[in-house]
Amino acid sequence: MINISIEDIKKLAKEKGYVVLAHNYQLYDLQQIADFVGDSLQLAQMARKIEMDKILFLGVDFMAEMVKALNIDKKVIVPVRTATCPMANSLEPEMILEAKKKYGAPFVIYVNSTLEAKQYADYLCTSANAVEVVSKIDSDVILFGPDKNLANYVAEKTGKKVIPVPGETGYCYVHNYVTLQQVLRLKNLYPKAKVVVHPEVPKDVRTIADYVGSTSQMEKFVALDESKEFIIVTEKGMVDRLKALYPNKKFYGVNSMLCYNMKKNNLKNVYKALQNDQFEINVEKTQAEKLSYLVQKMLEMSR
Ligand code: SF4
Repeated sequence: MINISIEDIKKLAKEKGYVVLAHNYQLYDLQQIADFVGDSLQLAQMARKIEMDKILFLGVDFMAEMVKALNIDKKVIVPVRTATCPMANSLEPEMILEAKKKYGAPFVIYVNSTLEAKQYADYLCTSANAVEVVSKIDSDVILFGPDKNLANYVAEKTGKKVIPVPGETGYCYVHNYVTLQQVLRLKNLYPKAKVVVHPEVPKDVRTIADYVGSTSQMEKFVALDESKEFIIVTEKGMVDRLKALYPNKKFYGVNSMLCYNMKKNNLKNVYKALQNDQFEINVEKTQAEKLSYLVQKMLEMSR
């Protein structure tokens, strides 16, 4: 195939009537072709406001499912079928049912989960509003999955007993394996930089942070904070995004923090997806209805 440029893709998307949505962790080339870049919930909600009825989604499968479920009448395509999320896949419906039976407590599901698992949850949350959602539930014991590190952060912030499901195996490999030493090394190199971390990182990394927040919260924090330098402890795509948004500030990332699934999308397969109108995402109507209900409830709780 000949070399594909960003302009070629923008032109083809326009000709074929697609709006392009890209997650913050996508390759920077792909962020540049997108009409909107954001976190998974921002993108799903953005899709609702768009008049065009064809969406090319760039992220991983559970996010594309969510975009489709919240926009059931629109056509949603993705360039690669195998771009998935091991953390989302670690939480199976049976685990939720078993935990609920064992503890008799409400289940809060993190948005980074499969559409199927979401069907069995009582509440939904994002990393931006997890603390708020859990604090408003009338129960001192909360079942939370799939991310154990986010569960730990929520427990710390709310003072509630938060039981992670599936437990030790529920984590994002990109965030879970960042070490305190890696971040301290960067801090040594850039002593003036503030440390900004995602709540999916382990507790020891979180404790040295100047700010803990989701990608959308990070974006707001660096915009308003007076510092000129930041160490960004999340997937590297976000570092590229912040560099592009705030060229007058400096951002340093952790080199090992790469999500291989997010990086499966590239200029070539995106161009092919547009050419062939593939691969289409389909979800069941009943599953879409349950997700819409959970999203609505979450938004009401996090106002
Ligand atoms: S960064 Fe982590 S949570 Fe996000 S898609 Fe990749 S593995 Fe899943």
